[in-house]
Amino acid sequence: MELKSEDVQEYLSYQGNPVREQFPSLNQMVYGKPLIYLDNAATTQKPWKVINAVQEYYTTINSNIHRGVHYLSQKATDAYELSRTTIATFINAKNSREVIFTKGTTEGINLVADCFSRYGITDKDSVIISSFEHHSNIVPWQMLCDKTGARLKVIPMNEDGELLMDDYKALLDDTVKIVAISYVSNTLGTINPIKEIIDLAHQIGSAVLVDAAQAVQHLAIDVKDLDCDFLVFSGHKMYGPTGIGILYGKEEWLEKLPPYQGGGDMIKTVSFVKTEYNELPFKFEAGTPHIEGAINLKVAIDFINEIGLEQIAAFEQGLMSYATTAVQEIPGVNIIGRAKAKTGSLSLSVTGAHPYDIGVLLDKMGIAVRTGHHCTQPIMDFYCIPGTVRASFALYNSTLDVDRFAEGLKRAVNMLV
Ligand code: PMP
Repeated sequence: MELKSEDVQEYLSYQGNPVREQFPSLNQMVYGKPLIYLDNAATTQKPWKVINAVQEYYTTINSNIHRGVHYLSQKATDAYELSRTTIATFINAKNSREVIFTKGTTEGINLVADCFSRYGITDKDSVIISSFEHHSNIVPWQMLCDKTGARLKVIPMNEDGELLMDDYKALLDDTVKIVAISYVSNTLGTINPIKEIIDLAHQIGSAVLVDAAQAVQHLAIDVKDLDCDFLVFSGHKMYGPTGIGILYGKEEWLEKLPPYQGGGDMIKTVSFVKTEYNELPFKFEAGTPHIEGAINLKVAIDFINEIGLEQIAAFEQGLMSYATTAVQEIPGVNIIGRAKAKTGSLSLSVTGAHPYDIGVLLDKMGIAVRTGHHCTQPIMDFYCIPGTVRASFALYNSTLDVDRFAEGLKRAVNMLV
């Protein structure tokens, strides 16, 4: 590592940040520059606690769960089920039977959409989503509609990236069977009025699925208070392992719905004549799951709890305002998404420059941002842009990261425009 440049000196002093120091991957140079990681909405870096726990799992209790009578299998099963209980507490579920381990948000939504498509939905019914959903909260519902003939209805938004609540109310009628909606937009950062959305849907008897992929790491979530029927999120966006996620479902719903996949663990008895499905939550966990990921998601949640989501939310809110002020002073920069309530992601376009070119130049300065449509192509169509540059924040970022991003952005704009 070159220790002479100003960048490196600044970077080294920056390592005094006690939260940041727990994330070893942030402590590196890219292209000779200190890494500034602002792609947290795509995935977060992992703290030592999680990294060490992964190694500990494979060097101590690695084995298959729910099956073996032997010591390791019992230890792994206990750890797996302890994680489920921790997650139930984290989101304030009624009990751990309401917590299903999945591969991630995408699988959770596909699971609910697929089970719903086999639960009496017909061509007389409809499903509501919003105009700024991630593709993973659009396509599974389109697939349900293809299978059942149901209609997909979309809540429009305004130029600021806020949903039009009167239009939402107008879409609600007795054909609606489920409303599937993000809590926080991964592209615009908009925080939806989620409680109101849920209440209104319940008034007409519709179920509600909340995509909390961009909420659970920024805001405290209480599923009892929200009264949502389903809620999904991913471990890798909240400092945990990749390939693990959670589907929360109200017990009544999970009991009613048919299983998603068939296989080991989701059955009580099998014969060639009849199969009896297992009780919750196992009914929805066919096959060997991502055992290590599930166990170590608890470690990530413990890490978040030690800092406290309220403190994280307040800190990130401050960072978001600081970043918004910093980038809007740069000539040619347009912020995409100006909702009053925002968290996590700050998207922008630059007049006369393609987001990809900005992203490549920032990368060469050691600054990792995301460019493109962020799996939300309808948002790009709405604003008539090819994509955005998105900086997204986590609890280890600081105003220094934002200053470097804003300086880098200014340089990139000057080079391109
Ligand atoms: N929904 C939202 C709002 C997201 O931001 C993402 C990830 N970008 C997803 C769903 C899909 O998450 P995953 O790829 O972890 O399944």
